[in-house]
Amino acid sequence: MEITEKAPAKINLSLDALFQHADGEHEWKMVMTSVDLADYVELSTTTSRQIKVTTDSGFLPVDQRNLAFQAARLLQRKAGITRGARIHIRKQIPVAAGLGGGSSDAAAVLRGLNRLWQLNWSLADLAHLGLAIDSDVPYCVYSQTALVTGRGDEITLLPKLPPFWVVLAKPNASVSTPSILRSIPYDQQLNHPPIEQMVTAIKQGNYEQILTSMGNTLEAITSQRYPQIKQLRQKMQQFGADAAQMSGSGPTVFGLCAKYSRAQHVFNSMKGFCPEVYLVRPLLNGLN
Ligand code: ATP
Repeated sequence: MEITEKAPAKINLSLDALFQHADGEHEWKMVMTSVDLADYVELSTTTSRQIKVTTDSGFLPVDQRNLAFQAARLLQRKAGITRGARIHIRKQIPVAAGLGGGSSDAAAVLRGLNRLWQLNWSLADLAHLGLAIDSDVPYCVYSQTALVTGRGDEITLLPKLPPFWVVLAKPNASVSTPSILRSIPYDQQLNHPPIEQMVTAIKQGNYEQILTSMGNTLEAITSQRYPQIKQLRQKMQQFGADAAQMSGSGPTVFGLCAKYSRAQHVFNSMKGFCPEVYLVRPLLNGLN
């Protein structure tokens, strides 16, 4: 049997880094949502223990460095499974973009193999396991609007967002997340976005308040190294996005628009400045 799992990209509507734990992990407070730009992960089970990853992307490792491979190995080991898996990743999410593509592929593998191997683990169990792969994996297991705290493992699901459009602009730069995280200046005054206000705005379905609650602590750090981020954000706003900011550790910049005509205008205009631009929407019903 072969199944296909959707692995959607995520954006950080707000992102705050609070402190670094003694083991080097970061304490996060962020609001994430998933959009309808997705990888598709095809999975089938094999009789040998082998995990085999293939992909149509020229940019990805297919060995143990691939997060999808790591997810399959980890689940196989923890669940005591003697079968293996074939994993084919149809890549659509830009790599190293701040859109969580690798984490979402890993989460899709956990959900898919849970079904194929008939493990009956809960999403909470899979999310807990996924934390060992990357701090974004627990969120990606759910891929629904959520407040994410702790090391990325405390997920509080939030209600459906009010309707809006999202323009994603990925400049021609690949950002190393570990290198950005190593340079967070915790000893200096950081810009902390109002996360509680964002949560309230979402609970009330208040689009205007969502816009004014946005913020990303990492944006100042990444844009210092990649000045095109600041330019893209300014362009987005100039072309009429209601608000714009960087996602994750970057470099993708996203703009929100309540009106489709406005979003289309921003999308078309950004194409003149940026090699990869997408017009998407938050997932309406999570992964369904
Ligand atoms: P995050 O915001 O979660 O740090 P990102 O969106 O910035 O991640 P990814 O696309 O997940 O970045 O890729 C980050 C790194 O992970 C790249 O160096 C890439 O080679 C590696 N990687 C491993 N497996 C995958 C995968 N399945 N898809 C994408 N990248 C992967």
